[in-house]
Amino acid sequence: TAPPESPAAPPGHYGRGALVAVLTTQPLATTLDYLAPEGGCHLGAFVEVPLGPRQVLGVVWGPGKGGFDLAKVRPVTRVLDVPPMRAEMQAFLARAADYTLTPLPAMLRLATRAPGLAGGAMMRKVYRRAGPEPARMTEGRARVLDALDAFGGAAVTLSELAEAAGVSPSVIKGLVKAGTIAGEDSPRDTPYPRLDPDRPGVALTEDQERAAEALRQAARAGGFSATLLKGVTGSGKTEVYLEAVAETLRAGRQALVLLPEIALTAEFIARVEARFGARPAEWHSGVTMTERRRLWRMVAEGGAELVVGARSALFLPFRDLGLIVVDEEHDSSYKQEDGVIYNARDMAVLRASLAGAAVVLASATPSLETWVNAQTGKYARLDLTTRYGAAVMPAISAIDMRSEDMPAAHWISPSLAQAVGRRLEAGEQSLLFLNRRGYAPVTLCRACGAQIGCDHCDARMVEHRFLKRLMCHQCGATKPVPSACPSCGAEGRLAPVGPGVERLAEEAAALWHGARIAILSSDRFASARALKAQIEAIAQGAADIIIGTQLVAKGHNFPLLTLVGVIDADLGLQGSDLRAAERTFQLMRQVAGRAGRAERPGEALLQTFQPEHPVIRAILSGEEERFWQAEAEERRAAGAPPFGRLAGIILSSTDLAQVSDFGRELAMMDAPLRAIGARLFGPAPAPIARIRGRHRVRLLIKAEKTAPLQAAIARWLGQFRPPSGVRVTVDIDPQSF
Ligand code: ADP
Ligand code: ZN
Repeated sequence: TAPPESPAAPPGHYGRGALVAVLTTQPLATTLDYLAPEGGCHLGAFVEVPLGPRQVLGVVWGPGKGGFDLAKVRPVTRVLDVPPMRAEMQAFLARAADYTLTPLPAMLRLATRAPGLAGGAMMRKVYRRAGPEPARMTEGRARVLDALDAFGGAAVTLSELAEAAGVSPSVIKGLVKAGTIAGEDSPRDTPYPRLDPDRPGVALTEDQERAAEALRQAARAGGFSATLLKGVTGSGKTEVYLEAVAETLRAGRQALVLLPEIALTAEFIARVEARFGARPAEWHSGVTMTERRRLWRMVAEGGAELVVGARSALFLPFRDLGLIVVDEEHDSSYKQEDGVIYNARDMAVLRASLAGAAVVLASATPSLETWVNAQTGKYARLDLTTRYGAAVMPAISAIDMRSEDMPAAHWISPSLAQAVGRRLEAGEQSLLFLNRRGYAPVTLCRACGAQIGCDHCDARMVEHRFLKRLMCHQCGATKPVPSACPSCGAEGRLAPVGPGVERLAEEAAALWHGARIAILSSDRFASARALKAQIEAIAQGAADIIIGTQLVAKGHNFPLLTLVGVIDADLGLQGSDLRAAERTFQLMRQVAGRAGRAERPGEALLQTFQPEHPVIRAILSGEEERFWQAEAEERRAAGAPPFGRLAGIILSSTDLAQVSDFGRELAMMDAPLRAIGARLFGPAPAPIARIRGRHRVRLLIKAEKTAPLQAAIARWLGQFRPPSGVRVTVDIDPQSF
């Protein structure tokens, strides 16, 4: 056969029979050629194509490559009735794939799985009466028609109809063939209510107005810009960036606000509703598939103006994205650590740059990367230095644990206890912060000294009295607390060592009889809804003492809270992690920032054994800029991020020898890395050497800032074929190193 109008087909539309390159969601490295279907198709169209014996989802990625026997090319099965992927989204997926060294199909899956495109949710047909009764009427067919009538014209899917009629789907398909009923693509979904950007917001203070005006200008400019919005908790960052949202809506463009945690969305959505008179679209794992489908389509068609969501919202098909806000941009939960490993903050900047959108990174304690980018002028920077209203930042001071009188198995010092006592008398709330879930981090046998570990991981089991079990925080495995030591068999000699929040609550209950104590820790709540209810109750005064993990550090407002006691300020400083200082500084400042609101000044007390440690001193003095400066200098001297580049390669397998051998092989053939001046470290056991029964070995690659790291890694790994059973995971810009 003569080649149809290809491969030089014009961009935009491919006529019937044109050769098109389709990227499928299957793990194949490249696109595959197909013939465009009956009515032709558009660039970016979502299609079903045959792949071997199956039908798979794909996207028309460009003109076909050709160069082979055209008679063997199979046609596209059908074009989905959804808006085609825009070129900008194609570019985003391609760039994100290159950056994270992820195969492009895996990136495409990120963009199609959540709305159910890959799972077929968009492909569902709905059925209705279309023609005369069939010539041959069977009992099953009659039941189908009765059932359809019973639905009263409402659209039903194949499976719904088959179930209602008590027939197999083939009976329905027979009726379609006979022309009695017809299956159609699901009807268009309804748009979200319009937001009104011109409703009056709060009257901004002078500082806030200055920042808001700068952001409005960025939104009006209509091109890419990146801005760090830095301000202490309660300084009005949210009020300010809502002004940027308003300006974006006025310009007729769409906005996306990313939040680090689902539990924060409810409060935020209420604020949006108060400000703009309607609720925005919501996108996260707790949203139903039907709603996600609606949102996906509406985002593409412009029927959703503002989306509030989790990091995966970056992969939504915005028609005209004008603004992305990344709230609490330093938060480590923006780093996706499973599957495709990416940092949503960095991807937000990439997406905005391709969309010609403004990006706002908001935080009280920015990541060092963002701080440096603002310092070097790559990002603009806006500061809100004071809390709104009469609220002042809490006074932060240290409790030197070396001079406190501490009985064994107690963690609340007399000085801290006194301060809590004063709050109880005043009817104010205290927060005791300890970043350790459960009752005790270690369960030790007093007879033989053994610690109870996980059977599947290189990790200790943590006792959770609330669950009445031991739990592994790596894999989630649980087991009952044994009465005898699993190592030596001694009865009744197992003892908890060290504190978790549950044990701290026990100590608090013994100290303050009758005080209402609430534990805020992620394992205590079955659902985001339950957690939210508890947070709201506490905000209204349902607890006197809150015992919390880092869950409480994130943006919840507790107006009655005036004291924060940090049980172990040294906890995060242990270990060799280069980000330990940055993380501890951020966490302590965030937690301390929970204390005190307008009429009630707050106080934060840090229990520490090393009050002279530079990080602790920086937290106490509040000289933030000096801290960042010193931290940046240290990183620069070490050639560490953001001044140098890092990548981690994790190899895992159930077979330790196999994974170690492969690691050594990789290390021996590192010429492509040396060619760009990069250095390879390892293989060494990964920080957690075994998870879920898989042994993990890590290699670290360090390179200059400007070195073409990804390309070199691709060349290097391309030399090998991993032995079967070995999984290779590449983590560009790892969080810990
Ligand atoms: P941040 O996001 O920096 O923590 P918020 O925007 O949440 O700060 O502001 C903290 C609190 O102060 C909120 O309850 C907010 O509504 C209120 N607030 C901030 N600025 C103003 C203002 N100019 N007028 C009235 N209330 C304000
Ligand atoms: Zn485990």
